[in-house]
Amino acid sequence: MPATSLASRRLPLAQPRVQLAHIDGVSLDHEFETLLEQHGLWPLTPTRISTLQINLGRVCNMTCLHCHVDAGPDRREAMSRATLQRCLDVIASSDTPTVDITGGAPELHPQFRWLVQQARALGRNVINRCNLTILEYPAYQDLPAFFAQHGVELVCSLPHYRPLLTDRQRGEGTFERSLLALRRLNQVGYGKAGSGLRLALVANPVGAFLPSSQASLEREWKREMFRLYGVSFDSLYCITNMPIARYLEWLLQSGNLDSYLQRLAGAFNPTAAAAVMCRTTLSVGWDGRLYDCDFNQMLDLGVEPKAPQHIDAFERAALEARRIVVRRHCFGCTAGAGSSCAGATA
Ligand code: SF4
Ligand code: SF4
Repeated sequence: MPATSLASRRLPLAQPRVQLAHIDGVSLDHEFETLLEQHGLWPLTPTRISTLQINLGRVCNMTCLHCHVDAGPDRREAMSRATLQRCLDVIASSDTPTVDITGGAPELHPQFRWLVQQARALGRNVINRCNLTILEYPAYQDLPAFFAQHGVELVCSLPHYRPLLTDRQRGEGTFERSLLALRRLNQVGYGKAGSGLRLALVANPVGAFLPSSQASLEREWKREMFRLYGVSFDSLYCITNMPIARYLEWLLQSGNLDSYLQRLAGAFNPTAAAAVMCRTTLSVGWDGRLYDCDFNQMLDLGVEPKAPQHIDAFERAALEARRIVVRRHCFGCTAGAGSSCAGATA
């Protein structure tokens, strides 16, 4: 596992344009736009913005091998209070039912709890994307109770239920700490039938391959997590690793980039393409800029120039009329059963 982010190692690969050039350099039979066109999906447009995904910044307590954010303890980017307030103003004045909070580790943001409280006070469904290990730091050990009190839906990353596979991707000892956190979440009601407190786990392949069937993996995970560790949860989301940032670094170092991208492109599924998350989600960067999704955000691909560029200029109708900016990394969302922030889409 790298000790620090690409950015702090000052690698050229930290720059989005260098990442895009590597992806564009792979020989593929079809371009993403061509396949969309063949299936009547070009230009790709939103159906309705039902989720505002707010990325609070790149600061994280971990430095996972597969991180598409290039997050880590060495990053400093964080959303300002003014931009957070502007996000809340937009939520209050629109009928966006879901607020999806991500990072980095969003809990490390000084105004994280305030944001959750405000969004819940507005009656919105709040999703928090949690890496689990953060809940084991002394200053954050009360978060399970806070989440339960405010009815926050939790989407927690855990690459695999086998300790070795999780630790290989996220660092030594990650699995044990994640398990402690999951047990404390279960204790306050998360993942327990009838509690109304939803707990989803997010699994991703530990290697250069596509995830297996989400439905069968969910059955296996639920059985094994309970049998081996006594932990229960509601859903398993299987996501495809996106060939950007630190996972791209690993693909390049291991000589897997060409074959991985070709595998993603070869597994293009039009049903998954029709259901990509950018059709229902708008992503806000830590500096307030708007993106079609968190992946485009990390590649510095803002929403198309005709659309409002910043949360300060949010205008629902104009944003719902925009064309979504797609590039070859989008094959990561449309391969096989598809992949989104809620797992498989097809
Ligand atoms: S994958 Fe998640 S937990 Fe790991 S470094 Fe990135 S943001 Fe942090
Ligand atoms: S990477 Fe983003 S823009 Fe591309 S298909 Fe996936 S969600 Fe949409």
